[in-house]
Parts: sequence; C-alpha cells; structure tokens
Amino acid sequence: MFDITKPLSINWELNNKCNLMCPQCVRNEIKDGKLQWKIPELNKIDTTLTTFKVAYNNIKHPIELIRFSGNVSEPTASKDFLDICWWLRGEDVSIHVDTNGTYKTPEWWGDLGKILSEDKRSMVFFSLDGVGNKSLQNYRVGADFYKILDNARAFIDTGGKAMWRMIKFKHNEHQIERAREIANEMGFWQFITVNSNRKINTNREWTYRGKKGILEYDSNNEKETRKPDTYNISCRYQERNIFYIDFLKRPWPCCYIPNKNKNGEEQSWYKKYNMDYTNSLVHKTFDDIMKNEFYEQLQSSWGDDSCLNDCKKFCSQVGRIRLSTWDASELQEKYE
Ligand code: SF4
Ligand code: SF4
Repeated sequence: MFDITKPLSINWELNNKCNLMCPQCVRNEIKDGKLQWKIPELNKIDTTLTTFKVAYNNIKHPIELIRFSGNVSEPTASKDFLDICWWLRGEDVSIHVDTNGTYKTPEWWGDLGKILSEDKRSMVFFSLDGVGNKSLQNYRVGADFYKILDNARAFIDTGGKAMWRMIKFKHNEHQIERAREIANEMGFWQFITVNSNRKINTNREWTYRGKKGILEYDSNNEKETRKPDTYNISCRYQERNIFYIDFLKRPWPCCYIPNKNKNGEEQSWYKKYNMDYTNSLVHKTFDDIMKNEFYEQLQSSWGDDSCLNDCKKFCSQVGRIRLSTWDASELQEKYE
C-alpha cells in the first residue's frame, strides 16, 4: 500500500478529546434542535508519551513528518503533548499541528514554539474562521478569539512558525482581508483560506448551553462536482506516502475512512478490519498490520464495484477537489 523504500509521513490522531462543539464536526449532530455529541464515549482516550513511543517504535521505518490532527481530536488536549513533540524532535521528525488554539496557556504555547523553532518544516495551523468572538463562534462553538490570539502570539514570539487557516463561510467572507491584516501584523508565517461546500448541519437552528445559533450555507462555495468515476481512483494518501493512526493506535490508509460503520455496511472486508481491535501499533508492528487482507482488498476495490463510496467521493479523478492541510503544507517548500 505504501512505499517503504521512502520515508513515510503520518497523520496521527492522539486522542478523542475536544472542548469545542463545531456543528459540522463528525463528533457532533443537531438533534431535536440541540447541538450535541453524536458519538458516545468521547473525551476519554489519550496517548501518553510511554504509549506513543511503543507505537512509534513499532513502525520500524523512517518517518519524516507527523501531522497531529484527527477526525475526533484536538491534539493539544493530550496531557503529554509537549513531551511527545520534544521526543520526536530528538528523532529528527518534523511536526505539523492542526489546532483550535483554545487549550493551554501562553506559557505552554511559548514552550511549543521553542521546541518547533529548531526545524524549518515544523509548524502549527491555527483554525481561526472569523475575526472576533461573534463571528468565530458561529462555527467554533465555545472558542475564545482573544485567547487563541494570545496563545498564537506566544508561540510566534518564541520562534514558532504559525499558519492562520480560515474556512470560508457566509458569516466570515467579509472579514477575510481584516483577518489577513491581523495575521501579518502578528507575524503569522502564512494566511490561507479554505473553501468548504459541506452542507451538513447548515441552515438549521440549534441551541447549546443556553445559546442559539445557525450556520448559514454559502452557495458561493459550491464547487463543480461531477459523478464520481469508480474506475479512476487516485489515492491521495498513497500518492504522498502518508498513513493515518487513530486514537486507538490503529493504522488506516487515510483520514477519510477510519471508524465508520457505514463503510462496514457497504463492504464486509471493511467491517472485519474495523471490528478488529488487535490491529494496534501497541501490539503489532506496522509491517504485520500491512499484511492484513484489508489493504489488498481496498486497493483491488478501486477498480471495480466494491469501491467504497468514500474512495469515490474523495479520490475519484472527477470527484470533488478539496484543498487539504497537506496541500497547504506543500506551499512551504516554495516559501522557505
Ligand atoms: S475543533 Fe476540531 S475536533 Fe473540535 S469540535 Fe471543532 S472540528 Fe471537531
Ligand atoms: S478515501 Fe480511499 S482512495 Fe482516498 S485516500 Fe482514503 S483510502 Fe485512499
């Protein structure tokens, strides 16, 4: 599945914790007008430095970059996050962090800046989808804009490379130039906007902890979408030699398909892998897990009708085009 003659990269989901309630996050749903968790048992699982080292050492292949990001995870919520980054820099691994920026203190962020400053490729992507609390909290429910800026400033001041990443919504489009100005004034390394044409939970009123809200859909973000072609799949993660590790320390081919019961309803080979909790890097090596028939079946499926709908949706040549954080990180090569 991956080219082990070349260095690998990892998208690592360290925990299943987060303090925010973004309406389009896979953690959440709007039910009976209330914004609430969709998945039981959230905010319970973390990865300690000790466990991290065991899982990392079981990969046994050179790793060049780890991006701490996850479908149900805010990486800075992990108790040992600084220690993990410190240890990885000793292994000469570059680090990317996707964060909502709301956890911890400026002192903590200053320490992270010092750890990452020694490596040109390492950086933090701050999710700041608005200027001011009124705008930001339309999507980042529970976030404090000014606390995030304080944390980002402390990170930048100690040498950390910071990216301001703004998802474009109807409520923030008029603020893009102001956000760019603030990013420049504060010394962010880059400012990027990300288009989203996700419709889920848009135009639906919700209440959460006494507050009301609604995320308006912006039809300006509608992109051209054509019928996905089953037989023309180009696996984004395979192309870049990246794999995903979920909060249970299980490898997956990418971030788009892990832990989804709906994929198990489509294909029994998916269900078998998803229900097998022994495929953890705490107990097995990466090479042993890659021998699992799931990886062969997944790749064969790209050429026939057993292809998962997610593979068609995300990686069909005529499917959706989407700017991911990985795409953004490639910009770095140009600007170094
Ligand atoms: S910050 Fe990220 S993990 Fe947390 S609720 Fe929002 S999208 Fe989900
Ligand atoms: S959705 Fe399928 S084709 Fe796309 S990156 Fe994931 S495994 Fe590869």
